[in-house]
Amino acid sequence: MENDYFCDNVFCLNIKMRENVFDNLLQQLSFGPKVPAEVWRALIAELDDVQKGRLALLAREVSQTHFGKGVYVRALIEISSYCRNNCHYCGLRSGNRLAQRYRLDKEQILECCHQAAALGFNTFVLQGGEDPMQTDEWIADVVAAIRDEYPAKAITLSVGERTTTGYELLRNAGADRYLLRHETANAGHYSHLHPRSMDIDNRRRCLADLKRLGYQVGSGMMVGSPQQSVEHIVEDLMFLDELQPQMIGIGPFIPAAGTPFADEQAGSIDETLLLISLLRLRFPKALIPATTAVSTLCDNGTQRAVLAGANVVMPNMTPIDYRDKYSIYNNKKSNGCESAQQLELLSEKLDGIGYYVDFARGDYLQ
Ligand code: SAH
Repeated sequence: MENDYFCDNVFCLNIKMRENVFDNLLQQLSFGPKVPAEVWRALIAELDDVQKGRLALLAREVSQTHFGKGVYVRALIEISSYCRNNCHYCGLRSGNRLAQRYRLDKEQILECCHQAAALGFNTFVLQGGEDPMQTDEWIADVVAAIRDEYPAKAITLSVGERTTTGYELLRNAGADRYLLRHETANAGHYSHLHPRSMDIDNRRRCLADLKRLGYQVGSGMMVGSPQQSVEHIVEDLMFLDELQPQMIGIGPFIPAAGTPFADEQAGSIDETLLLISLLRLRFPKALIPATTAVSTLCDNGTQRAVLAGANVVMPNMTPIDYRDKYSIYNNKKSNGCESAQQLELLSEKLDGIGYYVDFARGDYLQ
């Protein structure tokens, strides 16, 4: 009897201690001036399922405090599948003989914008490989034409590493935002994922340039990329904490046919969702998308990401004939629906979890 009583007490004490430790981690995550590596490590690798559940719920609440139950939408236009780079993970890499190549011309891009605008979108995202034909000047001309027609809409670019003057030219032409994931903050891991011709310092230079030029900047990493360790993710999170991006996009790594990583394992959805929640708590006002990679690996991935703290979705507005050719990884989610129908499907999905499509520009608010 006495023994039982003793055991119960020790059990309770243990739980209490674990709860205190967890509360302390959350406190440091949400309010600490800097999150130490050991705190990130514990949050990424040492939580039990109950704690992970609590974390997701908290992240959802924080997201709702800032964004309500609205999810911002951005019209994603994939402007080229040509790329001069040879990143080991990406299906668009120049060395991929299986890749199908296309590039949209100015009229096609403008037509996508017209369609997206007619559906109510207030942000256009132009994303593509680093196509040597789509020079800074060429893209600047397209951006200027979009800006001319749509003075009040947001223009986001995601066209890779460029020179300082290139970024400047694009900014002056009217681009407001730029997405450039850092991919990994660890130099050794970066060289495992990229060819020798690319280096982490140039990536960092690009991100610094973009911030200095007044773009709203998006960065992020793949989750579960080959040879990624917990320590690498800790470094990623500490890098983001320093960079303070306005947008943070993460998604699971997914193998792509014809690349050196074709036979590698895909990243984990649960780990991606946990990281979305951690990011939401650390960056309460950040624009965090439920990425296509999440919905590719998991049928209700969009809903799960939103419930974990994401607040942006980027429906694909690339013309249907080209959509399959922008194949950065295998089985990339592309429902083959016309744009309007796609938006309806998204609206239904969000409705199912009590959320709705928010068409506002959705800028980062200080
Ligand atoms: N050329 C642009 C756009 C690249 S595609 C750029 O460099 O920014 C956008 C993102 O898709 C990349 O930043 C990368 O994080 C992600 N991506 C590429 N290949 C992937 C893969 N195999 N699995 C998951 N995500 C991938």
